Amino acid sequence: MKRLTAYALFLALLLTGCGGSADPDTAQESIQVIAMDTAMLITTYGERSPAAAYAAEDVIRDLEAKLSRTMEDSDVSRLNSAGGQPIAISQDAFTLLRQAERCRIQTGGAFDPTIAPVAAAWGFAGGEEYRVPSQEELAALLPLVDCSAVFTDSQLPEGEEYNTAGQYEGEIRYTASLAPGQAIDLGGIAKGYAADILVRVFQEYGVPRGLAQLGGNVLAWGDRPGGTPWRVGVQDPAKPGDKNAFAGVLELTDSFAVTSGGYQRYFEQDGKRYHHIIDPATGYPADSGLTSVTVVADAFKTSQPCMGALCDAYSTALFVMGEEKALDFWRGCRDMEAGEPLFQLVLVTEDGRVVVTEGLADCFTLDEASGYAYETVS
Ligand code: AMP
Ligand code: MG
Repeated sequence: MKRLTAYALFLALLLTGCGGSADPDTAQESIQVIAMDTAMLITTYGERSPAAAYAAEDVIRDLEAKLSRTMEDSDVSRLNSAGGQPIAISQDAFTLLRQAERCRIQTGGAFDPTIAPVAAAWGFAGGEEYRVPSQEELAALLPLVDCSAVFTDSQLPEGEEYNTAGQYEGEIRYTASLAPGQAIDLGGIAKGYAADILVRVFQEYGVPRGLAQLGGNVLAWGDRPGGTPWRVGVQDPAKPGDKNAFAGVLELTDSFAVTSGGYQRYFEQDGKRYHHIIDPATGYPADSGLTSVTVVADAFKTSQPCMGALCDAYSTALFVMGEEKALDFWRGCRDMEAGEPLFQLVLVTEDGRVVVTEGLADCFTLDEASGYAYETVS
């Protein structure tokens, strides 16, 4: 299938001072990348900003080639068509499958990438028509939704061993297999993982500040020129057609902010709206009383090397779980090293409230015009 690979150069502005070195506040590169079914915008500052932005694009395209459900020779497509046989996969796919299984366990099954056959029945896998599947069809597919049946393995070449620090410099062979009939969809976690890799790219290129907008996944890197935080809008889920309608704005530095909401992808039939986040317990679009979930976390959590991926998986899972369970989950997830919550939340509810966890109280400003009632929770 031919994919849209073009990107538009929005702004390529490199200002160099008289001395020849770029001003980190103004040297800027901003590129749009169409990848992972999303229009992404990556803005980098600093002397090496053009190279950093294009390196970011390269890693996103590389990840898409491995993790796409629709590109024929991606790891995910090969795994889905392997009929349950083990196949060799990339380290990125291996890491994400392990993280996804971890999230399934943590969220009591609310996050499960083996939701793919059910999502496909609704037409959310890409390519198919949207439709409402019958109860019987869903009942037949639901037993396939079980990430614990996905097998993943990593093996060193024969005779080789990990060193005493548990590391190995050579090439490790990663394999995975699904149970027969299963399929996976990493769409609920892959963009967050891409944000994790962008952190490494920005570090490698010495990017002092930048903003990566990967659809609902944002990496706010450093602060804005002038030293103020990045402003990240939380879209008003009740007004999906109006990109300028916000429930509120987050002011963030060095953070991931990931939003999941039913408004991001849906179809309507007989006056009813069906969206793309499926409750693995029922096979139906989640109907938990939440209209969006935003997960915010420090982009430098040393205790969690895949914090972006976790934020992404959690935003999807907490949308399925609903307000009460989501807040219980938030209270239970603590960063043991820092002795504080692992992440913070902005929940928008169907009954017109914006619920913000206490760690964001100083960073979130409600848009008064939105009409939402504002609550903080501890
Ligand atoms: P997000 O936008 O990150 O919330 O991810 C939504 C995407 O994740 C959907 O388009 C599906 O590809 C996939 N998905 C839907 N429901 C689930 C679920 N319960 N667990 C994991 N992935 C899901
Ligand atoms: Mg997600």
